[in-house]
Amino acid sequence: MAEIHLKSLAHSYSQNPAGPEDYAIRQLDHVWEKGGAYALLGPSGCGKSTMLNIISGLLAPSEGDVLFDGKRVNELSPRDRNIAQVFQFPVIYDSMTVFQNLAFPLKNTGVPAAQIKTKVNEIAEILEIEDELHKKAKNLTADQKQKVSMGRGLVRGDVSAILFDEPLTVIDPQLKWKLRRKLKQIHEQFDITMVYVTHDQLEASTFADKIAVMYGGQIVQFGTPTELFEQPNHTFVGYFIGSPGMNLIEVRRCEGGVCFGDTVVPMGTQQTEALENLTSSNVKIGIRPEFVQASDVAADDTFAAEVKDVEDLGTYKIMTVRLGDETMKVRLTEDQHFEAGGTVQLSFPEKWLKLYVDEFLVEETEQ
Ligand code: ADP
Ligand code: MG
Repeated sequence: MAEIHLKSLAHSYSQNPAGPEDYAIRQLDHVWEKGGAYALLGPSGCGKSTMLNIISGLLAPSEGDVLFDGKRVNELSPRDRNIAQVFQFPVIYDSMTVFQNLAFPLKNTGVPAAQIKTKVNEIAEILEIEDELHKKAKNLTADQKQKVSMGRGLVRGDVSAILFDEPLTVIDPQLKWKLRRKLKQIHEQFDITMVYVTHDQLEASTFADKIAVMYGGQIVQFGTPTELFEQPNHTFVGYFIGSPGMNLIEVRRCEGGVCFGDTVVPMGTQQTEALENLTSSNVKIGIRPEFVQASDVAADDTFAAEVKDVEDLGTYKIMTVRLGDETMKVRLTEDQHFEAGGTVQLSFPEKWLKLYVDEFLVEETEQ
């Protein structure tokens, strides 16, 4: 396995890119450390597959270097990079048996027959396809085919990394959950660098120790699921992670903090400092529904809002409120009762109230 360093990397599918919007990957620097379990998370079209294909060597980047353990591999073929890649749709040989399919990557690298047998059996057992080993691949169900495809990626112990490009798309939800757990188990057992591409935040956080959130060809944050939740570096991370996502409100600088409509929201020390040096008019505040506090009682630091809707989701509730001209979501516990049409007093704890300038977080470090 290897550390994978993407250095000043950028890629455009266009021969003559005119501007940043012509780039599928905008210039970035990123390190996937040796042995890590990572997810690359982002919406469709943000550049995830492009990045994976550049790592594996299926695609040559238009700018920058790919380094494995510090060594430039731009000129190496996918085969020489020693990377296993699993795609969205199964890549298997229909005319071969499951055993032959799984054995193929090992046979190719000259592994002795006895060892192949052990390894194939081990992987087949983990993926629960040991009873299908003798079957021709063409007779398998779609789920089973994708398991074999994954098995082909997992069977080699000597790879620099395994890259998964939305591998569970064709798998039914029940089995998806199980396979994800298995992948994690395989990671723990074999300690291989794994990068798992998905557009599903739940999938990302159940598999990965650390998640790279990609948006518009950039990695906007690389962090643990908790970091992405508690400290989104970018409004997109706030919006994309969480269900529902972060409340984001466009504001302007004003006496006493920031304002929207008639509402004045006080800011912290560093946030105020950033506002004083402001050159942009793109300013937003953000707070997650989980961190907005709701009460019946007005206080100095509360804002009166109108309750529009309360949705009971079993163990918690999501309340929609109107504060001035803005709509916000607030997460309530089961025992908090507010009714549509009524008034609620909201407060925004300083620790969880974030300020974004040009979509990026203004850090408020504890002093
Ligand atoms: P993702 O995997 O996150 O959905 P992709 O890496 O496939 O995103 O695509 C990133 C961007 O590059 C998209 O705008 C897509 O339309 C474009 N793109 C992808 N493949 C090609 C290609 N072969 N030729 C031209 N444009 C492409
Ligand atoms: Mg893709």
